[in-house]
Amino acid sequence: MSRLTNRLLVLSLLVAGFITAQEVEPTTPEETEFYKPVPPKVTPGENGAPPSDAIVLFDGTSLDKWISSRDSTAAKWILNEDGSMTVNDRTGDIQTKQNFGSVQLHIEWKSPAEVQRDGQNRGNSGVFLNNLYEVQVLDNNDNDTYVNGQVGSIYKQHVPLAMASVPTGEWNTYDIIYHAPEFEKGQKVKSGTLTVIHNGVLIQDHVEIKGTTPYIGWPKNPPHGKGPLRLQDHGDNSRVSYRNIWVRELD
Ligand code: MG
Repeated sequence: MSRLTNRLLVLSLLVAGFITAQEVEPTTPEETEFYKPVPPKVTPGENGAPPSDAIVLFDGTSLDKWISSRDSTAAKWILNEDGSMTVNDRTGDIQTKQNFGSVQLHIEWKSPAEVQRDGQNRGNSGVFLNNLYEVQVLDNNDNDTYVNGQVGSIYKQHVPLAMASVPTGEWNTYDIIYHAPEFEKGQKVKSGTLTVIHNGVLIQDHVEIKGTTPYIGWPKNPPHGKGPLRLQDHGDNSRVSYRNIWVRELD
């Protein structure tokens, strides 16, 4: 069969509906190349600085993007002169004014250089995605605790693949990719997922979020839409600091 006859036969089968376009093996490179839609251009930031399309949530100048989780008044954490903020003990968690669904989040944190207490009471804070799902922040250097609650865990759900903290008192980075769960008629129909990179090391690899991350009890799955990002005041003078917080919305 000549090449032309073969192409005519394939075309006839396509038109007649006996085969689909996907079942025909391409014979030229152009058949598997496409040009639209063109992805948007994003200028990357240098040394952890936000890329051009990021929403900056904290750049060291103010806490204006944040409120108290207790009563929605102004956030009462301590704004430091070095461009960071520190948990103000027992003033409560703080959360963003803006609500988010799926996001790429960059956040930097550090435990106080002066070590106090042990286990879960040493430099404990946390990053809550969608106000519900905690990525643990903890000073785990020479400090044992339950591994599903150690630094980088999805609290009480997923043990991190590695413990990648820098020395106590130095700045850590978390780069988090969060995909929100989906709900229909009050029921979860698709689980959320979390990927966490700690100081450049993959520690949570697209893990399935089982539900909320309570201290006591099993994960729960209340239906929800977008929600704030929340940072934890663990209430034991943790003195954890944060800086350079930005997100890119993924939905
Ligand atoms: Mg915590």
